[in-house]
Amino acid sequence: MSKIILVTKTHANEVSATLFGRRLVRELQSRGHKVQVRQLPREYGLFYRLLNAPPEKLLRMEGQSEEEKGWVSRLHKENPGALIIALHNCGFKPKEGGKPNKFSFTLKDHDQLKFPNDYIVSDPYAIKYPPSFRPQYAIEIPVIYKDPSRGTLLARKQQEIREAFGGISNERAQKLLGRLRPADLKASKQAGLMGELMLKTLAECIVQQILPIWMDEREEKK
Ligand SMILES: [Zn+2]
Repeated sequence: MSKIILVTKTHANEVSATLFGRRLVRELQSRGHKVQVRQLPREYGLFYRLLNAPPEKLLRMEGQSEEEKGWVSRLHKENPGALIIALHNCGFKPKEGGKPNKFSFTLKDHDQLKFPNDYIVSDPYAIKYPPSFRPQYAIEIPVIYKDPSRGTLLARKQQEIREAFGGISNERAQKLLGRLRPADLKASKQAGLMGELMLKTLAECIVQQILPIWMDEREEKK
């Protein structure tokens, strides 16, 4: 039996990832695994930091704060031998032929990802991270995002980012703007992204693909 830790709220706007974290605990437990969810403290995450940053700090905002790195390092130290997987959302690109009746799942190497195109996908995928201040793996779960409503704090912050970067053509600005787009759960549900099919796909991805690789690598290190 392996201990699996699911990390959520690295990007707090990715609400479907947070919900799937809770659902996956039950799903993986029923398959005989020891699982828990750990949420990144709100104030360490990019979402909160963006919302609270003065405009002049936006240009130099790092994706991962020192506090976040420290938190992840402690998680590794306090749980030696645990498989730690971060759950994220990425933008959904519909397939031809309507609602998905099957998701296919791929595992990618972090070094081979081509950002930001890889953030828009039809199927979930997992990323294997090199040893660093990150979980060993991340799973990107497709979701539909929406623009924040006019006049809200999110919309105002997006405007500040556009102004700080002098427009939105800048790739970094695009990325930060994306971090302030809320997941649209209703639209995601209608598109078939929130159901049992996705839940089972994610559970199988962890149990059948990530876990065996991770266990093999752990054996090699011994
Ligand atoms: Zn994310």
